[in-house]
Amino acid sequence: MGGEKEVSASNLFDLHIAASKLPPLRARGVSTLQVNVGKVCNQTCAHCHVDAGPHRTESMSRETVQHILRVLRQNPSIKTLDITGGAPELNPHFRWLAGVAHTLGRHVIDRCNLTVFFVNGQHDLPAFLALHRVEVIASLPCYTADNVDKQRGKGVFDQSIEALRMLNELGYGHDDSSLALNLVFNPLGSSLPPSQAQLEADYKRELKERFGIIFNRLFTITNMPISRFRTDLVAHGKLDAYMQKLETAFNPDAVAGVMCRDLISVGWDGQLFDCDFNQMLNLPLAEGQPRTIADFDARQLSERPICTDAHCLGCTAGAGSSCGGALK
Ligand code: SF4
Ligand code: SF4
Repeated sequence: MGGEKEVSASNLFDLHIAASKLPPLRARGVSTLQVNVGKVCNQTCAHCHVDAGPHRTESMSRETVQHILRVLRQNPSIKTLDITGGAPELNPHFRWLAGVAHTLGRHVIDRCNLTVFFVNGQHDLPAFLALHRVEVIASLPCYTADNVDKQRGKGVFDQSIEALRMLNELGYGHDDSSLALNLVFNPLGSSLPPSQAQLEADYKRELKERFGIIFNRLFTITNMPISRFRTDLVAHGKLDAYMQKLETAFNPDAVAGVMCRDLISVGWDGQLFDCDFNQMLNLPLAEGQPRTIADFDARQLSERPICTDAHCLGCTAGAGSSCGGALK
């Protein structure tokens, strides 16, 4: 799916930017390197924008990881290494990348599906994450088993709860701990996310009461109209209605905070993109920008124009959406 361009011919996002009298989207720095180390995953979730799964073979090489570590060493302005996938921990170089980045003083994030703790050979993963002070950001689209299993697969909820317990025991999610445990909610269907603050309060109450689990923050994320979710919308004849919903909810105040303004996304093969979504659409950086991590140039990338298309409306609908949750 990575080579397929699914974006619309007319750029609806730019039309809304112009109608709101906002300038075209531009970066304001590169403080985060978001690295997608591959599409291999032990799950096959219904809304996965990566089309990840056990059948995928794309996985970042040692040589590309070496380039990433060099870029971190040479650019102290990059404060955060955000590692995603697939299940990033299934890449054979994941622990090397996360461990060295931590030693270099970077804040490391692992976008973890939780069930990976129960994959063969990963029993010591929670202890590794705690030792290297890795922030864990984990998907949990509901606090009930039925809804989670429907979106993420049978048995995923029970394993997720068990994994969260393990993280709590290691010190994750406690108010006075530096081990951050944040959860991600995305809607089960074609609705927009509800209020992040309200839902976070509900999650905290329900997870504590039902399972004794604590966590730090809940991030609500809008489903992007790409990849598996888009295919699902098309199959049910709902794509136009969903795009209309995103357009109607366009929030000009969310534009300034979209995550591509502060990060660069690196693909499993080292290619650079404005964000993980553009990466999945194979929408490259603007003309004249470095193409791969081997050519990384922080100064040039910090001022780059951003390549947008209709899917960007997913980042600016309602309260806005990013890998760190709502923008407003
Ligand atoms: S766990 Fe994440 S990467 Fe894996 S299939 Fe589900 S959404 Fe995709
Ligand atoms: S989809 Fe990517 S490029 Fe578009 S606004 Fe969102 S983060 Fe930026």
